[in-house]
Amino acid sequence: MLDHVVELADRVNVRDRIVIAHADLGEAEWPGTRELVAEHAAHYGLRLEVVRRVRQDGEVDSLLEYVRRRGKWPSSTQRWCTSDFKRDPIGRIVTKLSRESGLAETRILNCLGLRAEESPARKKKPPFERNKRSSSKTRIVDNWLPIHDWTLDQVWSRIRLAGTRHHWAYDIGMPRLSCRFCIFAPKAALILSGQHNRDLLNEYVRVEKQIGHRFRKDLAITEIQNALNQPVPEAVGAITDCWNM
Ligand code: SF4
Repeated sequence: MLDHVVELADRVNVRDRIVIAHADLGEAEWPGTRELVAEHAAHYGLRLEVVRRVRQDGEVDSLLEYVRRRGKWPSSTQRWCTSDFKRDPIGRIVTKLSRESGLAETRILNCLGLRAEESPARKKKPPFERNKRSSSKTRIVDNWLPIHDWTLDQVWSRIRLAGTRHHWAYDIGMPRLSCRFCIFAPKAALILSGQHNRDLLNEYVRVEKQIGHRFRKDLAITEIQNALNQPVPEAVGAITDCWNM
């Protein structure tokens, strides 16, 4: 998406207006994600803003800590992992950029790389819409999904053309670079992630036992650990299911 947006911006000579926003979820993320974002920003010579959720006492928050405090995992109806850890922190960047502009009215085009193929919910998303939550009297924010109708093949062809490095999680077979243990991931993806992230998996299992709340209704994260602890660990197979979000 970034390569596409940069190309469009270059056509009208406004690349310098692009800012990359990355909401860092800390330990929940695959190692190397933050570094890769910085690498991509440098590749295009773009400004990068990285944000983390901050607690009321001013300390940086972590998804697992939050789960411990609430005593619950996020879910499709309580999706605070996205709202509190991505949407709201990125909202701080939007506020910062509009203040910096010094303009009486700022217009911000919020580009997201969501694609229709990725899930039924994403398919229903309009490719362009006013972001009412972030807009105000002095600020108009629009959400745009520049690659909403792209296929997976189109994405990989574009990545090869762009010449930027992709994350190693794709090389081990993960179809998505979500949180290492995403509540929406198919079981096979969680097992594969567990193979490569045993320490974090053990931590998730500890938290699940401590709070007494299943990772999700149809699956305890302990089941992923059990699957990997079998004398012959459960085969992962191809991850064909999409993220159930
Ligand atoms: S990747 Fe999954 S678990 Fe992580 S924030 Fe997004 S929906 Fe929540």
